[in-house]
Amino acid sequence: MKHKLKMLLRELVARAVYHTPLWRLCDLLAPKRMVILAGHCVEAASNDFLPPEMKIREETLASILSWLKERFDGVRVADGWRRLNEGGGKSLFALSMDDGYRDNVTHLLPLAERLGVPVTVYLESRPLDEARVNWTHKFFWLVERLGVDELAVRYADETHVESDNVQTHQVVAEGVDVIYRWKRALKYDFDPIERDRVLDALFAREGGEEAALCAELYMDDAGVAALRDAGWELGGHTVSHHVLSGLEEAAQREEVTRGRESLVERRGVGCESFAYPFGRSWDFNEASVQAVRDAGFECAVHTHAGVATRGSDPYRLSRWMIDDQAQLHLIAAEACGAFELFRKVGLDLSE
Ligand SMILES: [Zn+2]
Repeated sequence: MKHKLKMLLRELVARAVYHTPLWRLCDLLAPKRMVILAGHCVEAASNDFLPPEMKIREETLASILSWLKERFDGVRVADGWRRLNEGGGKSLFALSMDDGYRDNVTHLLPLAERLGVPVTVYLESRPLDEARVNWTHKFFWLVERLGVDELAVRYADETHVESDNVQTHQVVAEGVDVIYRWKRALKYDFDPIERDRVLDALFAREGGEEAALCAELYMDDAGVAALRDAGWELGGHTVSHHVLSGLEEAAQREEVTRGRESLVERRGVGCESFAYPFGRSWDFNEASVQAVRDAGFECAVHTHAGVATRGSDPYRLSRWMIDDQAQLHLIAAEACGAFELFRKVGLDLSE
């Protein structure tokens, strides 16, 4: 009941600020802020098999960006963080895209140039350096080819660990949102080395070719250069997209630092800000934050909703996740500071 009331209040507040000039009042009362949007792909043939929560259509994205641009200043994330601390001027919005997909070059670049909106892309370095993709993409690729039930059977047949075997069947038997649940189990509950071995084996058996899949999905060096030359911010997102909190401190440093070096030294990009892979608060820890700071990043973002203000922790900046179901009135309420005003009295309406 409490949750329902909160959802009702959230809708009322969001619709009020979106449909009326009330957004101006909130903007005036709330501290100067930056709302950072976070996505992955703009819908394109190259990312056809990725799940819907990783994609947004160009029209949807254009309508969100146009609304924000009419009212606030569009910035790159690291520039925005500096401007917040200088004070003065309008509140800010930033668009960030994670991982470094090819559609960011082929589809988002022309759209962003047309709208005059700067973009920040957080790049994994291994697709660029070794033409390799992280396990999630092999998983989605296999789900598309085999269906989730058949994949579960083959996964169980391939794995030699009895507990994994049981767990796989359990997750599949639950039935609801099965792909999401299974991905979650693969991410947190399964041994990552065994998981990668099994997915690699199944992927190869189905005729998967990793370099070809990488070339289809991810941008190449020419794409990185095109974005860099267009003035986009290119930030760090580790070498290979591990859950950082699942790694020892030294391995975390290796992921963060080597990922940055690859971008700065081989590709001449600034790499001023960083995005934690997967981005939930339990996906990174104090050691991750320290590694990011020591590697030379000025700030870092996660995927819990909120806004950055002058007093925010620079290594824990919030982002608003967007996909094609993104609701502009809710984004509007965050961007104009309405949700921030409620947070100040202890009520978080954003999540
Ligand atoms: Zn990512």
